Amino acid sequence: MLVFEKSRAGRGMSMLPACDVEIKKPSEKDARQKELHLPQMSENDLSRHYTELAKKSHGVNDGFYPLGSCTMKYNPKINEDMAALPGFTQIHPLQPEHSVQGCLEVLKKSEEYLCEITGMDGMTFQPAAGAHGEFTGLMLIKAYHESRGDEKRTKIIVPDSAHGTNPASAAMAGYKVVSIASAPDGGVDLEGLKAACGEDTAGLMLTNPNTVGLFDKNILKITEIVHECGGLCYYDGANLNAVMGTVRPGDMGFDVIHLNLHKTFSTPHGGGGPGSGPVGCKSMLLQFLPSYRVVEKEGALAMEKAEHSIGEMKEFYGNFLVVVKALTYLMTLGKEGIPEASQNAVLNANYMMNKLKDLYTMAYDEVCMHEFVMSLEDLKKKAGVSAMDIAKGLLDNGIHPPTMYFPLIVHEALMVEPTETESKEVLDHAIEVFRKLYNDALENPESLLQAPVTTPVTRMDEVEAARHPVLKYEFES
Ligand SMILES: *Cc1c(COP(=O)(O)O)cnc(C)c1O
Repeated sequence: MLVFEKSRAGRGMSMLPACDVEIKKPSEKDARQKELHLPQMSENDLSRHYTELAKKSHGVNDGFYPLGSCTMKYNPKINEDMAALPGFTQIHPLQPEHSVQGCLEVLKKSEEYLCEITGMDGMTFQPAAGAHGEFTGLMLIKAYHESRGDEKRTKIIVPDSAHGTNPASAAMAGYKVVSIASAPDGGVDLEGLKAACGEDTAGLMLTNPNTVGLFDKNILKITEIVHECGGLCYYDGANLNAVMGTVRPGDMGFDVIHLNLHKTFSTPHGGGGPGSGPVGCKSMLLQFLPSYRVVEKEGALAMEKAEHSIGEMKEFYGNFLVVVKALTYLMTLGKEGIPEASQNAVLNANYMMNKLKDLYTMAYDEVCMHEFVMSLEDLKKKAGVSAMDIAKGLLDNGIHPPTMYFPLIVHEALMVEPTETESKEVLDHAIEVFRKLYNDALENPESLLQAPVTTPVTRMDEVEAARHPVLKYEFES
């Protein structure tokens, strides 16, 4: 039941003080023509409403959440405590610099740490998400070529193992997307890359580890080939959880990178935000960065705008409190903890993969990074049970499904990312459930075709949902 359906006229919970300024009515033209529908209810009823909703959903606090490519790790509560400090929440973006030195220090320290981790020279925190960061990074690449009068570079090369947002961002930035097929080992096909590179290449976008969970062995060759033809190299660093503190994209020849603070650096996500997708770059691109960067001036911290800035990507300084959470996380883990987190993420993925691969077919049977992809094509042929049906079966066992049917280059794909924050017991339980479901598929496929049966909403009619989506609530009056 929606909060609007529980609403009763006249109920409320707010006790505002009497208005002590003159009330100005808007003009007839600007005034609302119809009553504004806001739910009216007591605090108690509202609190119960949201508690009930929370019980129906599944988050990291409820159980295992191995959603590949999304890094649904546990986010330490101390991050929230820090982000809730009044010194961070009770400020205004237009406040004079001298009155917000602490906040500027947060931005500066975060930039320093993340540049150290990525091998970049500077960073902007303005983008609000990963895809937003990709778009920002591509605008930097565009500004770079334009500043050199190099106008014929109209193409961005994107391997087919890239995250889906990569080609979308390139197209949004006005580029023609050149897709290149993967080599049989899952990496970039070097011959294909060479053939695609030319005078019209603005750059390459590489997701690494790629969407099949593999670190490209030829990464140094790849950046060299692109640089040789005059293009720049963009590193989609949303999967940095696999490599942080161990290798640096900047050292591998990348010129621009985005990170997902709301994945690798521990901000809750999945509910739609707020997120943060900072973009780091090498020194020749610093002059194009959007918004302001924090610099030291006369013994204090100040904001400075880049000389040839591409302009604003978002208002003010991005989602500042997400940066506070990320900095808390960075300072908590420290120089030793950051690589350790990433090594454990890789270990956990390999542990699960190895405990499942006698039953489930791995898309690439080699050491994986932080996630692995299985193909259920054989099982579907044998038993008529699809990747989707196994995913639904997981729901009945209190486990959030892995990413399904992605990447597109693997049929009947399930992409599992356990993350480093799960114990061996949780992993062992998940392994047991996966194995049980496989056997159920063979012995009693009907049970999986019906699943889920224990969730608040059971099996959806996907065709109906796709053909006749109900996307908004219709008020009676
Ligand atoms: C999640 C992800 C993105 C997009 O990030 P958003 O914050 O969802 O926009 C881009 N690339 C990769 C590899 C990702 O995993």
